[in-house]
Order: sequence, then C-alpha cells, then structure tokens
Amino acid sequence: MAVKKKKIGSAGRFGAGYGKVKQKLIAVERKQRVKQECPFCKGHAKREAPSIWLCKKCNKKFASGAYHLKNQKTKK
Ligand SMILES: [Zn+2]
Repeated sequence: MAVKKKKIGSAGRFGAGYGKVKQKLIAVERKQRVKQECPFCKGHAKREAPSIWLCKKCNKKFASGAYHLKNQKTKK
C-alpha cells in the first residue's frame, strides 16, 4: 500500500490531531505567503510585529491585519 501523503500543507508539522485548528492555520499561513503590498506606494511591506507593518520603500509604518494585510487579493 502506498504511503499516505500529508495534504495539510504548512500545518503538517503538527502531526496528528488538532484537525479543525490546523485547517484554520492553513488559511492564515496561505495568506502570509502572498506578497504584502504597501497601500501607499504599492511596495513591499514587511511585518514588524503582529499588525504593525513597515514599508521598506516609503518607510511608512502602519497598522493592518495581524498576519497579513487587510483588503488584499489572495491568490489560491
Ligand atoms: Zn510603501
């Protein structure tokens, strides 16, 4: 029999259990991997701390979502 592959993506590191929570974590982490775009200059924003974002291009610091910028189009 073939070995089952993990379909759980980034949450695979937690192993068995926590099913529902893992699904939610995947949704969050998937958005994290998308490019976070600065709302001022469309440059690349970096997360300094939860919900604190810093844009390297225009040097603006702003608040948004804790794990990813709000109102962003996410590619699936
Ligand atoms: Zn910017």
